[in-house]
Amino acid sequence: MQLTDSLGRTINYLRLSVTDRCNMRCSYCMPAEGVADQGHDAVLRYEELLLIAEAAVGLGIEKIRITGGEPLVRAGIVDFLFRLSRIDGLRHLALTTNGLLLERMAADLHAAGVQRLNVSLDSLNRETFGAITRGGDLDAVLRGLDAAERAGFPPPKINMVVMAGVNDGEILDFAELTRNRGNSVRFIEYMPVIKDEGWQRYSIPGEEILRRIAARYPLEHVCKGAYAGPSRDFRIQGAQGTLGIITAVSGHFCEECNRIRVTSTGQAKGCLFSDDTADLKPYLRPPDPVQLAQVLKAIVTAKPEGHHITCDGYGHKNFTMAQIGG
Ligand code: SAM
Ligand code: SF4
Repeated sequence: MQLTDSLGRTINYLRLSVTDRCNMRCSYCMPAEGVADQGHDAVLRYEELLLIAEAAVGLGIEKIRITGGEPLVRAGIVDFLFRLSRIDGLRHLALTTNGLLLERMAADLHAAGVQRLNVSLDSLNRETFGAITRGGDLDAVLRGLDAAERAGFPPPKINMVVMAGVNDGEILDFAELTRNRGNSVRFIEYMPVIKDEGWQRYSIPGEEILRRIAARYPLEHVCKGAYAGPSRDFRIQGAQGTLGIITAVSGHFCEECNRIRVTSTGQAKGCLFSDDTADLKPYLRPPDPVQLAQVLKAIVTAKPEGHHITCDGYGHKNFTMAQIGG
């Protein structure tokens, strides 16, 4: 079954957040003190997350990405992933992580049926990495990347949020990773999720990122896979990994958007920057799979045409990416 929204976009991808907690404090994602405790009952149980996943796959979702917060800090995650990977009709199960716990968990994640890992990594310089993540251990993340490959994963995709004056000097070093490590790298425009006065100072348009890479390397276009979403992909000639540019802020991102999101507290969203949410809890406690599917379908139908975060006084409520599942 194909799931389409009112504009004819195919929606085949669910980003499912399992927690808003994290063992890092990236400055662009959450405040230094972390996020407020939601309370035990607010966060969905794994059984409830599985009901949502089953309903979504029943509607036509083919790919689920588990995200957070940091998904690997939630107890019982491996067993949950194993059950999720067995859902009939789910074609692709991926997980996004900061990589801190990968070294010891990679083999279990692979055995549980996770097919691909994305690792967020914004600097290859220990000091810069420590500053961006407010104390994260770069070497642990790099060991985690190696452990993932030893466990049988393809080289993890690396997500780099590019910020002017912070890590933009490393764009070419990250491009090199596609050649010397074989990782695919996606350069993500910094998004003003925490309504930070003057956020534009960190902003580097995807076009500029691409221009800097193209000035150094000959690039060829790469055709995207079925679930790839709104990145533009290239390859440095001869490189094993690809380069993707995600112009969430400056570019034509929304036209190709193929995703919906569900937060760890059961809020379904058609767009990261829309305040329109549907609370799925009433259809989980007690479970009502028919209503649950209808509400998810309504979120798809009502998916907005685009966001307006570059407009003055853009309207979304303040949130951290960790709360939505970036
Ligand atoms: N903790 C995991 C991680 O860091 O990969 C998963 C959750 S994190 C919220 C998911 C993604 O959102 C990460 O790749 C992160 O870089 C991205 N992200 C968070 N805040 C962002 C922002 N303000 N602009 C762009 N990307 C952001
Ligand atoms: Fe944690 Fe990921 Fe947010 Fe960084 S980006 S604070 S690792 S949830």
